[in-house]
This record gives sequence, structure tokens and C-alpha cells, in this order.
Amino acid sequence: MKISKRFANVGDSSTLKITALAKSMKSKNIDVAILAAGEPDFDTPNEIKDAAIKAIKDGFTGYTPVRGIPELLELICEKFKRDNNIEYKNENIIVSTGAKQSIYNVLQALCDEDSEVMILAPFWVSYIEMIKMTGATPVVIDTALDNFRLNFKRIEEKITPKTRMIIINSPNNPTGVVYTEKELRDFADVVVKHNIYCISDEIYEKIIYPPHKHYSLASFNEQIKNLTFTVNGLSKTYAMTGWRIGFLGGEKKLVEKTLMVQTHSTSCTSSISQKAAVAALKTDESVAGKMISEFAERRKFVLDFMKTVDGVGYIEPMGAFYLFMDFRKIIERNKNLFADSEALCTKLLEEYNVAVIPGGAFGAEGYLRISYAASKEEIKKGLTRINDFIKKHI
Ligand code: PMP
Ligand code: GLU
Repeated sequence: MKISKRFANVGDSSTLKITALAKSMKSKNIDVAILAAGEPDFDTPNEIKDAAIKAIKDGFTGYTPVRGIPELLELICEKFKRDNNIEYKNENIIVSTGAKQSIYNVLQALCDEDSEVMILAPFWVSYIEMIKMTGATPVVIDTALDNFRLNFKRIEEKITPKTRMIIINSPNNPTGVVYTEKELRDFADVVVKHNIYCISDEIYEKIIYPPHKHYSLASFNEQIKNLTFTVNGLSKTYAMTGWRIGFLGGEKKLVEKTLMVQTHSTSCTSSISQKAAVAALKTDESVAGKMISEFAERRKFVLDFMKTVDGVGYIEPMGAFYLFMDFRKIIERNKNLFADSEALCTKLLEEYNVAVIPGGAFGAEGYLRISYAASKEEIKKGLTRINDFIKKHI
């Protein structure tokens, strides 16, 4: 078998793989608690579905401009202005098949084989593999050493003439950490000083728990705005994971090059989903608000439950819908039974019927991520089983 060198060491997506495995167990009537993928369990709101049905009935079923329909681009510009204090025009925007494709497009358009791209561990599973797919080298900064906050000294130490980009993600998947305005402003200064491009993945922007607040990197000044691609999407906020709508805003000339990646690979995203996206962005705040309040309640439920659990540490989520737990001591004590977080998660799935994601997949060995984008019953079942596991192995 001959495969491209770039793909030789690209790994699978643990989030998608474990979720698919757990779902197939469930379809065989195995009672698995699935706290794996970060996918809202809500159905897409009706007014959004209705817009898609109307698009089909109206015959809005052909190719659209690659970057997206003007009506949607305009609403995205309004959203960036209103929520993020960033001025973009339609020419600065590309709508893609999920934020995943937005990120992939940028990396493909901007990286060379000898480029280095910095990511902050723990990182979302796909960043590292996407970087490898460009041929560039991922350079990982471990934020666990700094309580999962940004450490500018550590970042600057790893910047070299080859550093092309850095990816930042707040609210963070998998830790739930939200960076402060001061942290982000200082980060912007470092990026501008070294003249490197930045992807600011803000997909969890709306899922944030007071008093924490979201700040957009590109809103601080023109220099950082011109270096930054602001990535967002509808999957999380509007329970639209399967519709595949993500988008980015960035500097016009860079965005033009990025658009070529999409032009020659997938063209526009689904015309029907774009009409649904228009409806989503026009909904009253209360539509997404209801789901966001439900995540806040579940977060409280998870944190109350965790007060009864001894033996593992965790980070109190400030945003997103994940709890990142520290199993390092338990793994250390039970090395003969499970050598790492992946083996631990396999044991949890096979013997305790609970699906969670190993920290190793996020570049944080010894940790484990649960997603609480699941019903309270599912969360309770899953956490109870995890607690049984902890009690046995502590
Ligand atoms: N960024 C982060 C941090 C994520 O967790 C995800 C997972 N869905 C994405 C981007 C991509 O989301 P989508 O492609 O569904 O828009
Ligand atoms: N981003 C979500 C997660 O981290 C969904 C799965 C994926 O695309 O990775 O679980």
C-alpha cells in the first residue's frame, strides 16, 4: 500500500470514533451512558427546520456562490458586529461545511511543509491532525503546567522563524476554560509582535457561564484583526451539528486564498442548510437561550455530583459543555490494569458501559473528558458509573 507521507501518521478522531462505537453498542440494546461527543442532544428548533423545508419546496437546491449566499453573509457580518465588535464585510466571510472545514481551509491555504503551527494543549482533537495533513509541524504548548491559562513566556520561547500560525480556543474544548480580556489582549500583543497568523476558534462563544465573558481576539485592534481568522458556527449554539454550517471572518486577501481550498474541494456548503442558517441567525435570542440555560443547569448538576466524588480533581467549566477530570493518580496506582487514559476509557466503556474521551486525544495524558451535552438521566447514569469505577480503583 502506498499512501501520502502527509497522511502516514494522521490519527483517527477519538471523539467521533468512541461516540460511533457507543452508539453501535446502544443499538444492540447495551445500556451505555454516552458522555462522549460534544453534540447537543436537543433537536434543531422548529423555525430553523421550517426554513429548510421551505428551501426544498421552493427548489432552492442548486449550487450557491462558494463563500455562501449574500443573505447569510450579511447576517454573519451583523452577528460579528453585534456579538463580537468586529467589522467584516461579505468579502471577509466564508461559510463552510462546519467550523471544522473553516479551520482546515485556513491551514491548507496558509501552511507550507516547513511551517510550524502552535497549539495549546489540551487542544481539540482535530487541530493536530489537520496540521499534519498540511505537512506542517504541530508545536504543542502545555497549558496544564499553568493551570490551563496562557503563559506568554512559554509561547514566545517556542516561536521560531518557521512559526506560521497559532490556534487559540476560548471557551476551550476540552477544559471549559475561558480566557480573560487581559489574557487575550496580551496574547494579541505577542501575535502582532511576531507577525504570526492566528485562528481564534470561538465556536463555544455563547455557551458561557457568568461571570465569565467572551472576548474576540480580532476586536482589539486592526493589526490583530488582519492576522486573525475568527471561526464560529451554528452546530453548538443552535443544535445544528448535522446541518454542517461553520464560518470564518478574516483579512480580505487571505480569505480569498482560503476560499480557493473550498472552491476546489467541496464548493458551497448545502444550499438548504444555508437557508436554515439564515433562519437560525434571525431567531430571537430566547431560542438559543433556552438551550444555553439547560446547559447551565446540567453544569450545576455535574458540579453538585462531583462534590460527592473523592479521588479525582477537575476543572470547573467556565464555558462549553465539558468536564475535564484528572485521573493521573488513579492511572499511576493501577498501571498494571490500564496504562494510560485510552486504556482507562476502554475499560470504562467495556466494563462500566460509560463512553468518555481519553485526555491523551487532547494532548493531556492522564485526564478524561465527559460531555454534559446529554440528558440529566444520561449524565447521572454516566457519573454514577464513573464514581463506581473510581471507588474500585482509588
Ligand atoms: N472547534 C471546536 C473546539 C469543536 O469542539 C468543534 C466540534 N464540533 C468544532 C470546532 C467543529 O464543529 P463543526 O464542524 O460542527 O462546526
Ligand atoms: N467537537 C465535538 C467534540 O469534541 C464533536 C466531535 C468532533 O467533531 O470532534 O466532541
